[in-house]
Amino acid sequence: MGINVAIDGPSGAGKSTLARKLAEKLKFIYVDTGALYRTIGLYALRNDIDPKDENGVIAALSDIEVEIKFIGGEQHVYLNDEDVSADIRIHEVSNYASLVSAIPAVRQFLFHMQQKMAAEHDVIMDGRDIGTVVLPNADVKIFLTASAEERATRRYEELLSRGQEVSYDQILADVIARDEQDTNRPIAPLKPAENSVIVDTTGNTFDESLALLYKTVTERLEK
Ligand code: C5P
Repeated sequence: MGINVAIDGPSGAGKSTLARKLAEKLKFIYVDTGALYRTIGLYALRNDIDPKDENGVIAALSDIEVEIKFIGGEQHVYLNDEDVSADIRIHEVSNYASLVSAIPAVRQFLFHMQQKMAAEHDVIMDGRDIGTVVLPNADVKIFLTASAEERATRRYEELLSRGQEVSYDQILADVIARDEQDTNRPIAPLKPAENSVIVDTTGNTFDESLALLYKTVTERLEK
């Protein structure tokens, strides 16, 4: 059994960049579970499957194989043997991922894969339901959050730097809509796990947030 650190929280709180750096410092493997849902969202987008059509998405699952590989310490996700790590970051995929992730069969499809990774390695795993559902016995559980405006600003800057043309207002509206979807869904809703530590990064620089997270995690692992 590996050491397991669960980091949950809404999109844009800096989870993935912070978790990746933290994993590097602790020499753990970083698992980004959002990438798995994005891979299924990407499949739906590419194949004109309505992500709200539960039966359509469930039928597609038998044609989908998702795999994670680590190349130079970086997580890559594969959709039917194709490395889709870059494609899943397209803005349209975010909403598709959020919608397909509300389907219980999709969560079940990805559940064992996530548990297996955590059993075999020391992991920092980030997502929405890691501390609540996937790894309820994680050694440390963090709920990482920041204000919606700050999260939208970060996402906006990230997309601009990738050359995607987007409007800030649209991104903010998307962030709020996605929070709604993720928080209010009946299955695996986004909420702090029992015994989780809430870390709010609003107003922090990246280095401040990383230092805070590192301190919080190492203190708890020492206990
Ligand atoms: O973290 P990221 O924004 O890449 O996740 C994409 C979508 O996948 C989220 O909006 C969320 O709905 C879903 N997700 C989830 N459970 C996870 C990770 C992501 O439902 N553990």
